[in-house]
Amino acid sequence: MQQKNIIIIGSGVAGLAAAVRLSAAGHKVAVLEANGYVGGKLTVQHLGRYRFDMGPSVFTLPALIEELTRISGSRRKFEYLSLDKICNYFYEDGTRLTAYTDKTRFAEEVAAKLGEDKQSVYDQLKYSATAYELTSEIFMERSLHRLSTFLNLKTAKAILNIGKLKMSKTMNELNSARFKNKKTVQLFNRFATYNGSDPYQAPAIINIIAHLEHNIGAFAPKGGMYDITRHLYEISLELGAVYHLNTKVKQVKTLNDKAVGVITEQGEFPADIVVSDVDIKQLYTKLLDKRYYPEKILSQEKSLSALIFYWGIKKEFKELGLHNILFSANGEEEFKTMFGEKKPYHDPTTYINITSKVTPGDAPEGCENWFVMANMPHNSSGEPVQYVQEMRKHIIAKINRVLKTDIEAFIEVEDVLDPYLIEQRTGSSGGSLYGNSSNNKYAAFLRHANSSSRIKDLYFCGGSVHPGGGIPLGLLSAKIVSEMIAGKTS
Ligand SMILES: Cc1cc2nc3c(=O)[nH]c(=O)nc-3n(C[C@H](O)[C@H](O)[C@H](O)COP(=O)(O)OP(=O)(O)OC[C@H]3O[C@@H](n4cnc5c(N)ncnc54)[C@H](O)[C@@H]3O)c2cc1C
Repeated sequence: MQQKNIIIIGSGVAGLAAAVRLSAAGHKVAVLEANGYVGGKLTVQHLGRYRFDMGPSVFTLPALIEELTRISGSRRKFEYLSLDKICNYFYEDGTRLTAYTDKTRFAEEVAAKLGEDKQSVYDQLKYSATAYELTSEIFMERSLHRLSTFLNLKTAKAILNIGKLKMSKTMNELNSARFKNKKTVQLFNRFATYNGSDPYQAPAIINIIAHLEHNIGAFAPKGGMYDITRHLYEISLELGAVYHLNTKVKQVKTLNDKAVGVITEQGEFPADIVVSDVDIKQLYTKLLDKRYYPEKILSQEKSLSALIFYWGIKKEFKELGLHNILFSANGEEEFKTMFGEKKPYHDPTTYINITSKVTPGDAPEGCENWFVMANMPHNSSGEPVQYVQEMRKHIIAKINRVLKTDIEAFIEVEDVLDPYLIEQRTGSSGGSLYGNSSNNKYAAFLRHANSSSRIKDLYFCGGSVHPGGGIPLGLLSAKIVSEMIAGKTS
């Protein structure tokens, strides 16, 4: 193996995972991060006596973190809990339902509360498992831009079984055909938001996301989601990766269409290879010469963003768990408004994440740390969003209606994050959480590849490139990039 000087721009979860893999492979790795902290969207803050994860809250596929620990050879442990409840669901008409990890219990609960046949639930979970088995290796674990991905038995099997994937249907069409009750459809449709998409447009195969929690399992890092960032950062340091914080890259330097380093306000950093964990649109518009701009890929629709309130709550709500969803009374209108009109919806599906339910130290005794999130359209204006206070009223009204409380009276401390702030803090275009949306059948093919076809030795990882947004896919993007680099340097 030839040792290379590698610069990684950005320390989001994918940048950190790339730092672990490339350092473990024996390269000299420097990570340049614009913020004064690592982690990008996967960060943390303390407000008074409360601790809050600022971004992701749903944790799946812990095996991907374990693989990184193993590769690093570190003795550090990444500890997590297996959850027996995936989520508590609340509907405006008073219906309440718990999604248990145990499939039989979940099917019984759906049958009892929503009047479905248990078999429909099993069929739905079987569909998502089959879709995952047929496609995950091709669409998630490999580059879609290499012929070798398509010339193997797995791909042939997927093509032969394409009918099972129901590619001509949308998620909502498949789920509506399967279930009698609109509430069950809404429950399964909501997995589209796990990659910021619209179930009324996204292909049925996006139901694959439910497979992760319902078939593989729901988990929670013992010290909160920020433990993922902390762990990857620490094991990469042990391997010798070097971090330069408060170091914003202004330009990727190229010479004869080859990346040769980066330019920052602090000076130049030469490199043999540059790996970018920066939002791909920002990279092309701000850090690279215009002639490289790939118009078609960068004009794809962005995924949803979000408005989040972090509330220290001076009360315990026994009916709530780690993950709770208060559904909109009209899911279809909600998505039409966000994707069609590009506006927030007045009765938003509201997600409440409370890590103090599983990590009691995250809030004082008798209190809870509420992460209250509603999806929002991405913010294409580049200006601060104007709806925060209005949406706060709608969200509070919804919580009060559904939980029959007066939540405002219990808010002890508060902070807020909105699409504009997400873009400011992480460079994510329009504050989108997951890069491009998956609102069409070809979305997987329209994401940017993990290497540049025009600039030698420039690679891309993170939520805005292949295979897509979210922690698991970000981690897999780093794996694909390291394998590509290994192919060139071995
Ligand atoms: C509120 C919220 C909730 C979410 N919920 C979930 C969830 O429950 N589960 C899940 O799996 N995912 C969730 N996501 C998505 C998930 O957080 C992201 O997909 C993932 O963290 C993105 O990681 P990344 O590696 O692409 O980089 P990012 O986290 O986007 O980080 C990019 C980094 O690059 C740095 N950077 C940018 N430009 C430069 C530059 N010019 N020079 C130097 N550094 C630069 C930024 O400062 C930043 O640190 C959520 C996201 C948010 C915001």
